[in-house]
Amino acid sequence: MNLLTVDLEDWFHVCEVEHLLPKEKWDDLPSAVVADTETLLGVLEQSGFHATFFVVGYVARKHPQLIERLHREGHEIAFHGWDHELVYSLKPDEFRCILRRGIRTIEALIGKRPIGFRAPQWSINDRALWALDILAEEGFVYDSSMAPLKFIGNESYPSSPHLIKTASGCLREFPPLTLWTPFGRYPAGGGWGLRCLPISILKRQVHSLNAVGEPAVFFFHPREFGGKHPIKGLPTVKRFVVEAGVWSSRIQLLKLLKEFQFTSIERFLSSPPNMTIFMPKSPL
Ligand SMILES: [Zn+2]
Repeated sequence: MNLLTVDLEDWFHVCEVEHLLPKEKWDDLPSAVVADTETLLGVLEQSGFHATFFVVGYVARKHPQLIERLHREGHEIAFHGWDHELVYSLKPDEFRCILRRGIRTIEALIGKRPIGFRAPQWSINDRALWALDILAEEGFVYDSSMAPLKFIGNESYPSSPHLIKTASGCLREFPPLTLWTPFGRYPAGGGWGLRCLPISILKRQVHSLNAVGEPAVFFFHPREFGGKHPIKGLPTVKRFVVEAGVWSSRIQLLKLLKEFQFTSIERFLSSPPNMTIFMPKSPL
């Protein structure tokens, strides 16, 4: 089994562009998350697989029926921050408040609390390892926020699912699929990395992981499946990250669904394999 995840956010939830898309203006922007998610679900429904949807609190508040529908259809509802905030930009108490608000909101909608968290832009890294303790303290079972990649994470992080010991118990960590290149690790599990990667290389990597009993973790965004909402003035690097190869998202997902088995992280955890323990250390 491989793990299919979706970061359930609107097209304007892009980190580090607050000067272009200030939070105060979000309510005035044309939301596309419902229509885009329906397109994505149309692709998924043909396969019969379930996915984990990491929901931004803002989206849950604005579109509660979408969350209820996903839950009704057997998908997992997990949490992706309230306003899509970078975790390392928060103070520990602020992070805890956001988690509690997310738990309350999701529980009120679907009658059960989320057990998983994914930080926007993989923002639990060496600058925010304290967040892992808080996640465990607040009752989260797993996290999917630590990328074994340069710049946004740390290449020394494990690339397979593993256990992290915290002061409040163990947390299971699900890193996104990456593959090793002469230039370092490449982000193959989603975003521009997945969209621009030849499918044959992607398939080979997933087959080799599955052969040793490891799942590959994939992630998609509704905006990759919907109408275009170009963001004016995006810096070049951000534009590449958001838009490069975006037309191929649907094709890549269809090919993956045809070749491999997928499930949500929650369903995967109902019979989890043994996982090695990793102790991330803050840099001195
Ligand atoms: Zn996100």
